[in-house]
Amino acid sequence: MEIWGYLPGTNCGECGEKTCLAFASLLKERKKRLEECTPLFEAKYTEKQKRLAELLAPEIREIEIGIGARAGKIGGEEVMHRHELTFFNRTALAYDVWDTMEEGELRERVRRINDWRKFYIGEFLTLDAIAVRSVSGDARTFAECVKDVAEETDLPLVLCSFDAKVLEEGLKEVSDRNPLIYAADKTNWKEVLGLVKSYNVPVTVFSPDLDMLSSLALTFSSAGVEDIVLDPGTYPTGEGLANSFSRFIRIKRAGMLEGNKVVAYPLLSVPLTAWMIHDEAVEASYWEAVIANLFIIKYADIMILHSIEPYSLIAERTLVANIYTDPRRPVSVEAGLREIGAPTEQSPLFLTTNFALTYYTVESDISSNKIDSYLLVVDTDGIGVEAAVAGGQLNVESIKETLESYDAEKKVKHRTLVIPGLAARLSGETEDATGWTVLVGPRDSGRIPDWMNTNWPPQTGF
Ligand code: SF4
Repeated sequence: MEIWGYLPGTNCGECGEKTCLAFASLLKERKKRLEECTPLFEAKYTEKQKRLAELLAPEIREIEIGIGARAGKIGGEEVMHRHELTFFNRTALAYDVWDTMEEGELRERVRRINDWRKFYIGEFLTLDAIAVRSVSGDARTFAECVKDVAEETDLPLVLCSFDAKVLEEGLKEVSDRNPLIYAADKTNWKEVLGLVKSYNVPVTVFSPDLDMLSSLALTFSSAGVEDIVLDPGTYPTGEGLANSFSRFIRIKRAGMLEGNKVVAYPLLSVPLTAWMIHDEAVEASYWEAVIANLFIIKYADIMILHSIEPYSLIAERTLVANIYTDPRRPVSVEAGLREIGAPTEQSPLFLTTNFALTYYTVESDISSNKIDSYLLVVDTDGIGVEAAVAGGQLNVESIKETLESYDAEKKVKHRTLVIPGLAARLSGETEDATGWTVLVGPRDSGRIPDWMNTNWPPQTGF
């Protein structure tokens, strides 16, 4: 209602909503942008527009890195815990390359990071950024490396050096791609501040000393730099790791709950530091993943990593996918009638719910076993089979309605429906209500191939 109070209140519909109240609720959910209310930008509403922009600003500043379709946003969060509302921007994972790599090896690694993807619950997981590290310390070598990387990828870049001259040479190559600078510290901040002002790019400030970190952030913000990322240091072991963990929590609490705007910026973690203390690659990858997982949960908005081995990377990226779902909405798929393989009128018709995890498990079990079939997906508000039967979302009426809505009887001649074993108690009533023969399938879709051997084709109803 407070947001609504600042809108023009004319219900003109220019934003695509019928009323200002509807637009206000979508603004709060961040499904609409303020700019979509064009009347608000007329001169007479200037004060209201300003107040509303302040009201809607997230507690933690949201920063964009990169440009174009693969640009990413970090920060912008409103709450400490996902269940209090939702998180809006997931932790961005930046994997490193370095300027002493041989060119062929460099380009190959960039391509692997750029192209990596894994199908997981209805989406392809990808990686978010490439961190280009200066190891040589030589500005021209770094610039060449940045140039090579930029030619291979449109992912956002993080330029890493504590030498402002090195950073500047890299920036000259890619400043138009809005890279994140890493990092300004107590020794180089003047030079880096000059660079950030000249090239207008986001910057990371680094210090494990929280007073120094605040001071650096305040110095940059006072100079007019708005896009700041904070790195309070990621120590890979022992007391240092415990203290790093504590610093992340303290800063996030200060910015989010205590209204300390000086540190209300996204946080950056560097789990790559695991490689400083572990010589053996698998061991280093393992500890890097452990540290990454800790800071994905609390509270890194972006992190720099090294291992692109599946046993490290998959754990990190999957955890990000799991943490950064919207708890207000079950992960669901569209209801409907799917064809798997090349089904005919004699192929089985399986039923499942539209909970994404259930759907993709069943779909994968059927398709990987090359069972040409139909899969009827019932809208259960994104709830899995057992809970949907208990809660009433999967019931005789919803099954009947889905069968009819998607013309299942035109697809198969046998009028036999295979329901999940977990929905067995609906079989009799479903037969009565629909006129279809109902077979009870296995409780676990992984057993569908065995079940097919003894139950398909059916003796009756075929
Ligand atoms: S465009 Fe603005 S004034 Fe018009 S209905 Fe939408 S919110 Fe209200």
